[in-house]
Amino acid sequence: MALEEYKRKRDFSRSPEPAGVVRRSRKGRQTPVFCVQKHLASHLHYDFRLEHNGVLLSWAVPKGPSLDPSVKRLAMHVEDHPLEYGDFEGVIPSGYGAGIVMLWDRGTWTPEVDDVDAALKKGDLKFTLDGYKLKGSWVLVRTKGARWAAGGADRSWLLIKHRDEWAGPVDIAEFAPLSVKSQGDFADILAQENPEIWISHRPAQSGEAGALFEKIIARAIQMRSDRTGRSRRSTHSTRTKTPVARKRR
Ligand code: MN
Repeated sequence: MALEEYKRKRDFSRSPEPAGVVRRSRKGRQTPVFCVQKHLASHLHYDFRLEHNGVLLSWAVPKGPSLDPSVKRLAMHVEDHPLEYGDFEGVIPSGYGAGIVMLWDRGTWTPEVDDVDAALKKGDLKFTLDGYKLKGSWVLVRTKGARWAAGGADRSWLLIKHRDEWAGPVDIAEFAPLSVKSQGDFADILAQENPEIWISHRPAQSGEAGALFEKIIARAIQMRSDRTGRSRRSTHSTRTKTPVARKRR
């Protein structure tokens, strides 16, 4: 496991994503971490990541995790990410993955098998999550018969919730849509940066993602102008309330 593919795909002089290194031994906490990043790029998806052997094993889940055990969510295995990525939230202005990344959930995970590497090789990894939004028992299982798909060979898995006290019919993506890091939504995250970057060339022009971007960019720009307006007004009102100003009246 290494980060060559991760590094090859990114230009760290242009992306705020962490370059990172493989951390074979981590001092202090022993329980491995997991995170889920909600990523609005050319399409909206959820990146599901499990710490293992000093990196974050990663799957892109187009529809996000479901708490309903009868729902199997496609999870495309993607390149390992550095552990530092587990804290990342922000705006990737251009290049690979250009878009907005929200830290949607995080916590720790425990394998329900003795040998994680063997389970991954077999294509059947059972585990328990202890996050803010996702809890209880889950499984990632590699799909069979997808080998014909161009570039999809061995990469497609299913993320499935096991039946337990944390399973249920609630749509968790809709019920708990915000960041566990900043408590904000995509527009809040974009408003921290420069929402104007995508006025002419946002990462998705059409379809659902395009429409989402259009709304988010407009809201982020509005938030920034409200903020500027408010700070101007508050400067003004402070001045009129000074004793000197009152005495003159
Ligand atoms: Mn992604």
